[in-house]
Amino acid sequence: MIRVGVNGYGTIGKRVADAVAAQPDMELVGVTKTSPNYGAEAAVRRGYDLYAAVDDRIDEFEDSELSVAGTLSDLLDAIDVVVDCSPSGIGERNRPRYDAHDTPAVFQGGEDASVADESFNARGSGDAVRDAESLRVVSCNTTGLSRLLAPLDETYGVEKARVTLVRRGGDPSETDRGPINDVVPDPRTVPSHHGPDVNAILPDVSVDTAALKAPVTAMHTHSVNVTLAAEPTAAEVRDLLAEETRVFLIPEDAGIDGAGTLKDYAADIGRPRGDLWENCIWEESISVEGDDLYLFQNVHQEADVVPENVDAIRTLTTDVSRTETISLTNETLGIGLESLLSADETGRTPIAADD
Ligand code: NAD
Repeated sequence: MIRVGVNGYGTIGKRVADAVAAQPDMELVGVTKTSPNYGAEAAVRRGYDLYAAVDDRIDEFEDSELSVAGTLSDLLDAIDVVVDCSPSGIGERNRPRYDAHDTPAVFQGGEDASVADESFNARGSGDAVRDAESLRVVSCNTTGLSRLLAPLDETYGVEKARVTLVRRGGDPSETDRGPINDVVPDPRTVPSHHGPDVNAILPDVSVDTAALKAPVTAMHTHSVNVTLAAEPTAAEVRDLLAEETRVFLIPEDAGIDGAGTLKDYAADIGRPRGDLWENCIWEESISVEGDDLYLFQNVHQEADVVPENVDAIRTLTTDVSRTETISLTNETLGIGLESLLSADETGRTPIAADD
């Protein structure tokens, strides 16, 4: 069993903890919190051992009703690998602690790429990740773009990808984020940093990104244009993407018209927290004009990096191949949405015929 600790139990950390606990070859030894708040209470209710992220705050936990198993140092002594899910920039500050305990670490996309030996996406990364002693799972947007561009580049060749990212202003729990009544270019400079971040995974793919922030919390939306080195039909591209296990093609007649209905669907089918681990691509948006491919995809920022963290843990600590870890993670979490309304060979969803 791979003994895993999660340092930072927020939006990403709590999901990674649940995903690790579900793996047959992993043991979740514990999670850390900086203070005994509702998140810490929820972790204890879920049966997870709680550790104080900051040593001198252990008294705060001991003063509460929550029992704490120790400090971050105790956790690091008891595990084979740590997943750092602390806020952006804090992972870099935590790194010397992990090094001191000789504990391999998985970092998140809010950190600079230099925090780890290699950046990681299970579908897109090259073989260099195999020899790394630390990995950085790229951000939610970069994860979504890497999963899309990797198969397109392998099959057709990508001459140039241009993507406009309409980013959610904040996560649902982030009450202090915005904007609340505007759509703002963010960053105002073009291209944004997302394109270069994709190159940490797919170094040879030419990609420019521009980003905005919108007053929504559910998901990011990507408007994608890829100039290909070939001229496939839209149906061929759709079939290619349908083969990707971490891509959900939203059927034309499903009545899913945005992030609200997507998240509603995820909750209705019993996904934990309504999470969508897959890229969600509107099937009828997939269009080809000559060598130009267009599509819209949505990315659930709280969820898409979660299976990637599980795969990063296995990649750091075992000899399991990327294909094997992807399929084991998919199987244990139930990833690979295939709608019962999926399209027939004409590209139309068959439900209308039955109505
Ligand atoms: P978050 O604020 O929801 O959670 C971070 C947690 O870490 C909080 O519980 C906080 O109390 C705790 N923490 C604070 N200081 C700490 C310390 N010194 N040591 C350990 N824990 C500490 O943040 P998040 O959204 O989960 O983001 C975590 C990382 O994941 C960031 O790098 C972020 O960029 C990245 N990420 C976030 C999203 C997203 O949409 N939320 C998506 C992909 C990647």
